[in-house]
Amino acid sequence: MPDRSLSKKLFSKAKSIIPGGVNSPVRAFKNVDGDPFFVRRARGCHIRDVDGNELIDYIGTWGPAILGHAPQVVIDAVTHAAKEGVSFGAPHPGEIEMAQIIVDWVPSVEKVRMVNSGTEATMSAIRLARGFTGRKQIVKFDGCYHGHADSLLVAAGSGALTHGEPDSAGVPEEFASLTTVLPFNKPEALDQAFAEDGENIAAIIVEPYPANAGLVFPQDGYLQKLRDITTKYGALLIFDEVMTGFRVAKGGVQELSGVTPDLTALGKVIGGGLPVGAFGGRADIMDYLAPNGPVYQAGTLSGNPLAMAAGIAQLREMERKNGWEMLEENGAQFEEGVRDALKKHGLDYTFNRVGSMFCLYFRSGEILNVDDVKESNFDQFRRFFWKALDEGVYFAPSPYETGFMSLAHTSDDIDKTIEITALALEAAIG
Ligand SMILES: *Cc1c(COP(=O)(O)O)cnc(C)c1O
Repeated sequence: MPDRSLSKKLFSKAKSIIPGGVNSPVRAFKNVDGDPFFVRRARGCHIRDVDGNELIDYIGTWGPAILGHAPQVVIDAVTHAAKEGVSFGAPHPGEIEMAQIIVDWVPSVEKVRMVNSGTEATMSAIRLARGFTGRKQIVKFDGCYHGHADSLLVAAGSGALTHGEPDSAGVPEEFASLTTVLPFNKPEALDQAFAEDGENIAAIIVEPYPANAGLVFPQDGYLQKLRDITTKYGALLIFDEVMTGFRVAKGGVQELSGVTPDLTALGKVIGGGLPVGAFGGRADIMDYLAPNGPVYQAGTLSGNPLAMAAGIAQLREMERKNGWEMLEENGAQFEEGVRDALKKHGLDYTFNRVGSMFCLYFRSGEILNVDDVKESNFDQFRRFFWKALDEGVYFAPSPYETGFMSLAHTSDDIDKTIEITALALEAAIG
């Protein structure tokens, strides 16, 4: 077992002055019944913790680090930008450059506004959808995560037509009741909800590849079904591509699937590791935003020059290298190794992957939605996680999270990871 004594000490100090010791809950390792490590530095695909342990990282700061940690192009861009000023609170050319990239790459986006997080992006997209349609009700899917705004921290209710219930203390029932929560990949549920309440529904918000329940894929025709039913009832379709945007392809799932939403929420990769989000879509809808339109939305640090510089540098580097093709190669190498290891242990567990995103479920069979994920063997997952970590591979500390590879993962890193994955599988089932 690696020495993690300094991390332990820091965590105990952190817990005395930060709620739970962390600034975002998943970092606390609650799902794996242990304490987190503290990071000293991160370079490429490697993290070194404060005790000096080296890890090959498959979280990539939960998605943003698509080039790896601290890529030189991003460091240079941020350093250069910082010398010109770290925040202006006034328009600057970097905002236009970023907007142009998004408009050029993301099929649905004609106009775009920058914000500071994925949460702000989805929250603002929903306000805009409500303002534009003049309707109140939102439809979301159980197991999709859209950040922590009130209208989205809603769980499935118990009724036949599930007007949602608060998924967090502090979210009033009255707010939650404005969100209808449906099971993903169940077209009948969608038909029923729209038949009963269609003229009140402002929008469907969906992760087109739900990646906060491991990694779930829509069944054939399901995304098109979302498109058709929203169009039919005059509701908007919002793709939350905070995780998949610029990750699964240059233009996200909407490029891969050919289904074009009305609005899209972006985040993570777009900021190059700095706090950034964006939402965009049809120009006629986006023009409902202040200062031209009646829907208010603002941000002191939105379009921040450092954040724009980091994001632009990262996206341009991905484009220059055609990074998506390389990520597919990395992902395929890893997939082959994992499948071999599973076979060797006589396991037919489900391994889902698209490009550089992956999830190994500790169960077999098709995963249609979060109900299927809940049937995984979480004890095995926990043993798998800790064995991998002890051997030097950092996978997500929760069975509901996606793994991420980066351009910094070399073939050798991946081979080593496959070896360790095999050991961890043995520990998991042993
Ligand atoms: C991470 C994530 C968010 C929230 O983004 P933050 O920057 O953490 O606020 C929203 N939607 C999806 C799909 C995400 O993965």
